[in-house]
Formats: sequence, structure tokens, C-alpha cells
Amino acid sequence: MDAQVDPALGLLKSTFGYDRFRGLQRAVIDHVLAGGDALVLMPTGGGKSLCFQIPAMLRRGVGIVVSPLIALMQDQVQALRQNGVRAAFINSTLDASQSGQVLYQARQGALDLLYMAPERLLLPHTLEFLKSIPLALLAIDEVHCVSRWGHDFRPDYLGLSVLPEHFPEVPRLGLTATADEATRREILERLHLQNARLFVAGFDRPNIRYRLAPKDNAHKQLAAFLKRDHPGDAGIVYRLSRRKTEQTAAWLVEQGFNALPYHAGMDAGERLRNQQRFLREDGVIMVATIAFGMGIDKPDVRFVAHLDLPKSLEAYYQETGRAGRDGLPANAFLTYGLEDVAFLGNLMRNSSAGEQHKRLEQLKLEALLGFCETTLCRRQVLLNYFGEAHPGQCGNCDTCLDPVETWDGLVAAQKALSCVFRTGQRFGVAHLVNVLLGKEETRLLALGHQRLSTYGIGQELNERQWRSIYRQLLARGFLEPDPQGHGGLRLTEQSRPVLRGEQTVYFRHDPDNPLTDTSLRLTLERKRRREVAFDDPNDLDLWQALRAWRLTQARELEVPPYVVFHDSTLRDVVLQKPSTLQALGGLHGIGKRKLATYGEAVLRVVREHGAATTTTV
Ligand code: ADP
Ligand code: ZN
Repeated sequence: MDAQVDPALGLLKSTFGYDRFRGLQRAVIDHVLAGGDALVLMPTGGGKSLCFQIPAMLRRGVGIVVSPLIALMQDQVQALRQNGVRAAFINSTLDASQSGQVLYQARQGALDLLYMAPERLLLPHTLEFLKSIPLALLAIDEVHCVSRWGHDFRPDYLGLSVLPEHFPEVPRLGLTATADEATRREILERLHLQNARLFVAGFDRPNIRYRLAPKDNAHKQLAAFLKRDHPGDAGIVYRLSRRKTEQTAAWLVEQGFNALPYHAGMDAGERLRNQQRFLREDGVIMVATIAFGMGIDKPDVRFVAHLDLPKSLEAYYQETGRAGRDGLPANAFLTYGLEDVAFLGNLMRNSSAGEQHKRLEQLKLEALLGFCETTLCRRQVLLNYFGEAHPGQCGNCDTCLDPVETWDGLVAAQKALSCVFRTGQRFGVAHLVNVLLGKEETRLLALGHQRLSTYGIGQELNERQWRSIYRQLLARGFLEPDPQGHGGLRLTEQSRPVLRGEQTVYFRHDPDNPLTDTSLRLTLERKRRREVAFDDPNDLDLWQALRAWRLTQARELEVPPYVVFHDSTLRDVVLQKPSTLQALGGLHGIGKRKLATYGEAVLRVVREHGAATTTTV
């Protein structure tokens, strides 16, 4: 079908400037256009927004979009307006007359999309109003927020269960990047979406490179990573606590990086300011707790670094998913240590959740550790966890790029495990390692542990190696955290065959320098990519001129630069050097509205800076 007779494809091209639908977009759009309900699970950057934006524009009435964070609605609406879409939001930043104005537009049929937070939607007078006008659809973004099992639970989302009562005829779509089965079931149940069609996209993010390293000195490791791989890039550094967030941000600033903190303990104004700077300036590093990130759809986040273990693989996948939405290469970097495991274990035990829930949390933690310590392709392990088969050998994770050496560790494992047993199954790793190394440490001597049979039997390895062994034993379930807390370790059923020598155990050799060749290689690749993209020095000149022009536009409009044009669009302009509006309009990401608004200006920049060596069309 061509664009003339296919209205959805027509809109995709004329409004958004894209030539074809991605993955499941087409199927979801057709289903919703026909009036069906849908639950859409797609990875971050997969293109969920178009799944509701296009049907909302094509169906009669206004499409209501429920979104959890009012701070971010604004950017989404601005981006839509830049494309000429009739979109608005209602939230507490508007005064009564402004929101009256928006509602008036909705009643007049002058809006295709209206964004609001759940608490606003559920106000009795909002519901009454919406019942009095035609609605195209109800889209619930970040729909996993309704799940208590998930990690972003928002009580306001629970209220959305009343929507089918009020709007029985209106198609409803839930959208999320969280994939696991338990969350999915909970969403369907709580929102009465049992009859919704399920659309599950592949979750792989091939442009993200996963890299993990045992924590040594987290700040130094981070600085080395940033200097080698990400000079001048925008990215997110996650930390587990507010205090660490502050410390890391301050440390990075001291080292000359452009970093800002973000956590729930800061006042709302400052938090919003930092978020805006991250979105609107180029190359800001956000150091944040997990309070930051949901709904951040900045496409050019080049890296996500975790200096502490995330809470689960789900959380890790969602957080790292914020990197590289534009499809260009991006890095996910994680450092992990046993202290994190103890910390998370304590959090879990002290939570008010029920026993069953705690057991599940424990399983999640073990899955996460298994991922850290795996000798297999990281992508394969990750995707398998989400129920997706992957053949491995992805070629874009640390274990694929620098295969881990393994060594036969049966004897070491036996020493480590029997040391746990001899000391009474209640000590943490630091103490256990002291015993194995035969240290004359005060507390150890006071406990009389120098008389144990395992005292000093591990001197063939050093402290770092023993720590790694304990981590791996824990990750594989040969040890478990002592349920009394305090970071102690105890044996499990599985440790018996090892102690009896009936099972082989192989350990990974952790590299001495946790930042291995992998990072260097990425730097080289990136250099190469840039050189390929801009063989000609004039091209670099044009690229910079276009970016400078974009920044001026964005400042004037008070929007992030990518709302004006994505990097990928500017790159196309550099490579194609269009000389006519028609040629420019054919490029990726340039719809009719942007062509009309910016076309002449872009052509002028091309004429002035793009010593037209090659001219296409
Ligand atoms: P999600 O909400 O799933 O994380 P978005 O809807 O924000 O993803 O889309 C991610 C990026 O992909 C956006 O920059 C969007 O403009 C772009 N995109 C979406 N659909 C297409 C398409 N069919 N062709 C090209 N780019 C697309
Ligand atoms: Zn791999």
C-alpha cells in the first residue's frame, strides 16, 4: 500500500518523517484503529509512542495519554508540536485558565493528544468531562507502575482500574519496557486488560555494549571509563544511596567532568533544574539514584554506569535501556562488589514485605549475581532471564569480546566453603578471607579463629582472588546470605557435593585491570565510525555548524536540542548535503512541519558550510 491509500503510513512519513514502521508498530496501530485493547511490551527506544500517537490522530476524538511524571510531559508535547501534531498536557504547572483553555480545545475537537497524570485523570470532574467528549483511545504509558511486584509501583496507577467502567467503548493500550511474566500478569489483572491483545517485541538492544567489572575503586574505575570511552558524552551514573550520589557527583566535578546530582532528598526545584540541564545541554552526566530516569526519553544518552548493584535484573535492564535510544553505539558499565550484596540483602530483610515476597526478592538477587559472574555471553543470560532465546556470541559484550578464562577451582572452593563451616556460618567475607590468609587480626585472635583447621590454608591466593571466589560461590548458590543479616554467609544444600569433591567447579579469572581492552576497542570503533561518517574535514565543519544552529533554535524555543532534530537527522544532512527542500524532506526524521519551519535555515547552513563535494538528488 502506498501512503495515499494507507493513512497510517501517510502520517508516519508526512508528520514524523520516517519511511517505514518498526517491528510491531504496524500491528499495534492496526489493532487499535480497529478498536481493540492492547498491552504493548517493547524495549526502551523501540518506538512505543507512535503506537498510540498515530491511532489517536486517525481516530475520531482526542487520545488521552496517562503518564506518570508531569515534569516530562512537557517535552513530549513540545516534540509533538514541533512535528505539527495537535497535542497538549494538563497538570499542576498550568493555572485554572490555562487548563480551561486546554479543555476547551479538547471539546472543540482541536486536539489529537492530551497528556495527564493518573491522579488528574481520576478526579471526578475530569472523568465527567472526558465522558462528555469523543475519545480516540486511552493510552497508559509506563503501565508497569501498576504492579507491586515491579520496581516502580505508583499507587495512583491502581485507580486506573475504573477506566473500563467509565469508558467501555474506548480502546485502551498499556505500554511498558518491563518484560517479566509476573509484572505482565499483574498489569492484565489490575487494569482489566484480560481481553487485550498482547504485543511482545524482542527485547534485545543490540547497540548497547554490556560491561561489568568487580568493584575495586569505583570512582577511579568510572573516571577511567569516562575518559577512554565517553569524553564529552551525556550519560547517567546510578548510585544506591543519596549520600553516594552526592559524593560521586562532587568527585566528578572536582575531576573536571560536567556532572550533576539527582535524588529524592533534594528539593523539587533543584531536582527539576538538574533534570532540565541534563535534557537541554549537551554532554551532562547525571549522577542519580533510581528516582531518576523513568520517562526520560533523551535519545542520545551514550552510557549508563552503575557503581552499585541495581536491585534486580529487571531494574538493570530498564536502567541500562535508557542508553542509546537513537540506535547508535552505547555502553552499559557496572561495577559490583560483595558489600552491595550484603546491603541489598539487608534492605530486603528489613522491608515490610511478606515472607513469600522476600523469597522472590532473594531469587532475583541471585539471578543478578549469576549475571555478574557468568562466563557466558551477557546478552544471552539477560535475554534468557526475560524468556527470550538468544544463541550467545553477541560480539558486543565483555565476555564475547574478551572471553573469560576459567580455572579449575575445586580445591579453592572446598577451602572457602569449609572456612564458612568452621567459623560457624555467620561471618562475612572480610573475616573469612582473613582466616584463609592466616592474618593476625585482633578480632580474629579474640575469637580464637587462629586455632581453626582452615586458618592460613589459603595463602596461595591473594585477598582480591578470595573475594572473587566467594562472590562466585554466592552467585552460583553454593553459599547464601545468612538470613539473620549482618552480611554473614552460610552453606546451602548445593555446597555438599563440592565439599565431598563430587562436583567440578570452574571460576572465572577476573582481569587484574577491570577496564580491559574492550573499552579501548570501543574507542577505536567510535573513532573509526566518526571518520567514516565524516571522511571529509569539511563535513565535520558542517556537522558542527548544524549542531550550533540547532542549539540556538532549541534555546529560543526552550526545548532540548533533539526536539528540533535528532543527531541521526543531522548526520543524514551532512552526508547527503541536500540543496533543495524536496531533497531535504526525504531525509530521516523530517516531516512536513519541520521542513516548513526549518527547511530554509538548514539549507542555508548547508550552503555556507557544506562545500558541496557531493550533491545528491
Ligand atoms: P519508547 O517509548 O519505546 O522508548 P520512542 O517512542 O520514544 O521509544 O521512540 C524511540 C525513538 O525511535 C524516537 O526517537 C522515535 O522518533 C524513533 N522512532 C520511532 N518509530 C520509528 C520509525 N518507525 N522509524 C524511525 N524512527 C522511529
Ligand atoms: Zn555477548
